Amino acid sequence: MTLAELKNYFETELTGFYPSEEVQSFFNILTQAWLGYSRMDISLNASEVIPSEINIKFKNTIERLKRSEPIQYIVGSTEFYGLPFVVNQDTLIPRPETEELVEWILEDKRNKVKILDIGTGSGCIAIALAGMNPEAEVTALDISEKALDIARKNADLNEVEVSFLQTDILTVTTLPDHYDIIVSNPPYVREQEKKLMHDNVLLYEPDSALYVSEDDPLKFYRAICKLASHHLKPEGVLFFEINEYLSKEMVSLLDEEGFHNIDVRRDFRGKDRFVNCTL
Ligand code: GLN
Repeated sequence: MTLAELKNYFETELTGFYPSEEVQSFFNILTQAWLGYSRMDISLNASEVIPSEINIKFKNTIERLKRSEPIQYIVGSTEFYGLPFVVNQDTLIPRPETEELVEWILEDKRNKVKILDIGTGSGCIAIALAGMNPEAEVTALDISEKALDIARKNADLNEVEVSFLQTDILTVTTLPDHYDIIVSNPPYVREQEKKLMHDNVLLYEPDSALYVSEDDPLKFYRAICKLASHHLKPEGVLFFEINEYLSKEMVSLLDEEGFHNIDVRRDFRGKDRFVNCTL
C-alpha cells in the first residue's frame, strides 16, 4: 500500500466516527509519530510504499480510534504550551484551556519565585512554568505515584528541574515551604456533568483526576485553601482552574477562607474557568 492509499483507507474507515478535519489531523499526528513526516512530506511522498508493520499499526489504530481512545494515548504524547509531554492513562491529557492558566500566572513578572503545583498529573503546569521561568523553584505534588513517574519523565524530556512529591492533599496538614504562587487544577467534574462529556474522556482518562462527589464538589479547593492560607507568602497569589458551573461557589469559598482580590477569568470558550486571589 502506498502512503496515498493508506491515507485514503484511513479516512474512509473513520468517516462517520469523527469529522473529516479531525481524521486528517489524526493522520498527520500518526505519520509524524511513526514515519517522521510533516504534513508537507505526506504529499511529497504520496507514492512511497509503506512497510507492512506500519500498515498494521495504522489498522490497529483505526480500531482504537473507533472505540474513542484519545489519539494522545495512542501515540503516547501530546503538546502543552508548545512543549512535548509524554502521556498515558495514568494522567489526564493536558487541556488547551489550562495553557491559559499558565499564561495568566506568567503575567506576573517576578522572576525568582517559589511555585507549588498541587495535583500535577502529567506535570504540565509545573513544567511549563519552570520552562518559562528558569529562576523559579518549582515543586509539584500528586497523590498518584504513577502520575508522578510520567511527570518526572516530562521534566527530563523538557530539561527542567521540578521537585515532585507524592502527597494526598486531603490529608496533609502542612506544605513543604512557603510560596509566591500556589496553583492547582484539581478534579472538579460532578456526576451530573458526565452526560455532557464524550467517550474519549469518560472511558479512557483517569477518574481520580476528573471526578468529585456531588455532595462536596469543592473539597479539593477547600483543602488547598486551608493549606494556602498558611503557606502563601504575604504577596503570594493562589491560582485555580475551576468548574465553569461553580464559579460563584468558588468565590464564596475563597471569601469565607479569608482570601482577597478574588478575580474570575473565562477561558477561550467563554466559560468561567480560572480564579486567582491573594491573602
Ligand atoms: N477540563 C477537564 C475536562 O473537562 C476537567 C479537568 C479537571 O477535572 N480538573 O475534562
